[in-house]
Amino acid sequence: MKKTTEVKQMELTIANANPSPGPSFADPGEIGFGKIFTPHMFQMRYGRDRGWHDAEIVPLHPLALHPATSFIHYGASIFESLKAYRREDGKIFLFRPEMNFKRMNASARRICMPEIDVKFCITVIKELVRLDRDWVPKWPGTTLYIRPAMFADDPSLGVHVSPTYYFFIIMSPVGSYFGNGSLKLWVEEDCVRATHGGTGASKMAGNYAGSLLAAERARQKGYSQVIWLDAVEHRYVEEAGAMNIFFVVNREVVTPQLTDTILNGVTRDSILRLCEQESIPATERKVSITEIIAGLKDGTCTEVFGAGTAAVISPVSHLGYRDEEYQVGDGNPGPITKKLLDTLQGIQFGTKTGPSGWSLTID
Ligand SMILES: *Cc1c(COP(=O)(O)O)cnc(C)c1O
Repeated sequence: MKKTTEVKQMELTIANANPSPGPSFADPGEIGFGKIFTPHMFQMRYGRDRGWHDAEIVPLHPLALHPATSFIHYGASIFESLKAYRREDGKIFLFRPEMNFKRMNASARRICMPEIDVKFCITVIKELVRLDRDWVPKWPGTTLYIRPAMFADDPSLGVHVSPTYYFFIIMSPVGSYFGNGSLKLWVEEDCVRATHGGTGASKMAGNYAGSLLAAERARQKGYSQVIWLDAVEHRYVEEAGAMNIFFVVNREVVTPQLTDTILNGVTRDSILRLCEQESIPATERKVSITEIIAGLKDGTCTEVFGAGTAAVISPVSHLGYRDEEYQVGDGNPGPITKKLLDTLQGIQFGTKTGPSGWSLTID
């Protein structure tokens, strides 16, 4: 079977691609996160002279790389993160995918990579999900995780802007990112994730390598992730692991305002828009860790949650800070967290109507 679709100047070739039956999971607990992949992938190549070319959907396959390949040594690699959601009647939805590819272009600009065509990439994802549609799992809360990525593939050892790049999209049926239950977060005061003028606002591979040590130390203390503080004063809250972070303080939703050290999450943006729609007061501002700890002690900070595509909205039950552990509310997800999660998931899974343009149907 061979099929081509013209999108702008680029042709999408679909070669050796036949729909294949989905996996046979007995229950959602078997799915895990990001270990099983669908049978097809998308790939395209970039050359300084030719632009993007050879766009094709092909069977999933390993990549053969020269050991001198640029990104392996110097980290020129970026990625994105989105999901396909299956409604009970079988209909499949994407959630605000254009935001992901616009952000991917922002990441690309930060490290001198070529930009991609947002509309073309959305067409590609629709074709890819349509082909592997039986791999979108059907249990509540399970999804098909979609991972676009791009890296510099020039085999040359000088630190340089690569003349060539490889872009691909792979897909993986996933269950819950953190398993069920609430998170315990450790307030990290030693390592930092991002500095002003650095790459923290882009989804660049190296940012995640740099975060592993702190996450690992937190894990050894019994916490699932860290809360990152600003790199200058170690005082203002930035993010929670690879999630944006929200607090409910005096019945108001509060999240750190965007700077060049905070990743502009699609989930974060959606939560702020939903608060507006539901008349829940919400503010973007600087949030100091001392304000939050004081609020947990005197009961004015009642809810804490992390937000991201993989983790959706993850309630936080405890914060570990210096020598103490602080419980959030009664340790269970609070009413605003639950309401936002319910609304957001309803829109993502196509059972609730969101703002116009948020849901894209795959038919
Ligand atoms: C991806 C990511 C997020 C969440 O972004 P979403 O678009 O909501 O998935 C937050 N922080 C970091 C550091 C991230 O990498």
